[in-house]
Amino acid sequence: MRLTYPRSFLSLLLIGFTIVSAPLLFALFSNAVAFERLADLSEKAVHSAVKVTQASRALVSAITSLERSARQYAVAGDAKFLEAYSANRVAFQGVIRQLRVMALSEAQRAEAVGIEKQEEAIHQAIMAAGPTPQLANRLVRDFAQLSERAHTLVSLGDQVIDEGIEQLRTQAVKSRNSVFWLMIALIPTAILLIASFTFLIARPITQVSEGIRGLGEGQFARPIRIEGPGDMVRLGEQLDWLRERLVTLEAQKTRFLQHMSHELKTPLTALREGSDLLSSGVVGNLNAEQHEIARILRENSIELRKLIEGLLNYSAVHAQTSYLDASIVQLRDVVKRVVNDRKLAIVAKNLRVDLNCEIVTAYCDEEKIRVVLDNLLSNAVKYSPEKGVVAIKLYKERSDAVIEVIDEGPGIAPAEREKIFEAFYRDANAPPAAIKGSGLGLSIVKEYVQLHKGVVEVLDGPGGRFRIRFPRKQADGAEEAA
Ligand code: ADP
Repeated sequence: MRLTYPRSFLSLLLIGFTIVSAPLLFALFSNAVAFERLADLSEKAVHSAVKVTQASRALVSAITSLERSARQYAVAGDAKFLEAYSANRVAFQGVIRQLRVMALSEAQRAEAVGIEKQEEAIHQAIMAAGPTPQLANRLVRDFAQLSERAHTLVSLGDQVIDEGIEQLRTQAVKSRNSVFWLMIALIPTAILLIASFTFLIARPITQVSEGIRGLGEGQFARPIRIEGPGDMVRLGEQLDWLRERLVTLEAQKTRFLQHMSHELKTPLTALREGSDLLSSGVVGNLNAEQHEIARILRENSIELRKLIEGLLNYSAVHAQTSYLDASIVQLRDVVKRVVNDRKLAIVAKNLRVDLNCEIVTAYCDEEKIRVVLDNLLSNAVKYSPEKGVVAIKLYKERSDAVIEVIDEGPGIAPAEREKIFEAFYRDANAPPAAIKGSGLGLSIVKEYVQLHKGVVEVLDGPGGRFRIRFPRKQADGAEEAA
């Protein structure tokens, strides 16, 4: 899948954060709007309902004062009571006017209009009749009705408040539900977005680290390409440039080694042939001392040749390290072949080889595994005491094939365990009896095992204990067939 990345890693991060936070910001915003609306609604509803109730109660007390002054006038007929009545009536009308401009329900409005009309009728009656006992009687009845209506208005106000509260509660429940469903929808979306951006951000980084690891492991064959933001792609191009440089350097090194070892061989052969001629006495008889010198010359030229062959071998190994010729291999057969090939040396040292091999198949490069085992076995034979035992174990562990080569020799000191795998490294404390080698065997072992994505380790003694382990991959079908 081809993805279009932004130009820089930073903008990828910024875009990622923005997109991931967008749904969350949206949720926050819509919550804020819902709560704002709720608060607004509740404030308005409660405020106006309370105002109406207050005005209704003021109306009740205005009616009471009006009644008192009207009835006093009807009974006593005094002009000062009529004045008081008029003043109270102005107050009453003020309250009614206030009520009329308020937000009233239908029932409240009808009740207010009714009260106003009835008061008007009472007023007309007072003005028409003047202070008489009949008026006094009528006032008692009429004012009783009027104040009852005013009380009804008060209770209607209470009812409006109750209804408002109920409406608020429903609204709150509705808001809560919509927030809940919004969250249910947004959380998976946010998680999905986070996962996608983590993948997009992590992918180029993983590719860089894989590229660097590949370089470290000497896998130069596969070009390094990084998919990602522009700056990461450029980093990939630089890594690939580095890979090409390493390939060139590697090739130069190998060529140099090959040429040098080749050039060294010719004069060396001449040296050896010369010393052979001297030893054989073809060019004249030698005395004992001269014989000894010819022998030393010959032995050293043989050793030098071995070293040079090791070098050639090593450069050949390097030339093909990044290449595996894999097939399904019966490892037990490889072990047996290696032991057979080393029979002469084993017999010469009177060694016993103890084989403990399970049937294990692996998808691997048979020749490289043979070289690995051969190097380990030849070291074991080399460092074993006379009449010692060399044990080879082969078994499966989870998806790995494991081979151990164990000898009864001096073993390897913990401090040396890392170093012995370096090319040309030879343990300075190795017993003098040990036949000198080139110091390349174990570095080849390590290189080949790593090529199989495996590891080689030195285990604690007694004696030398080497263990290699590499993934068998998909070799099981072949094993059942075996
Ligand atoms: P060499 O050709 O010198 O054997 P290697 O790379 O095979 O080179 O081994 C490196 C060093 O590791 C040897 O010089 C030796 O000191 C040590 N070594 C390897 N195998 C054994 C063993 N089985 N027992 C003890 N020492 C060993």
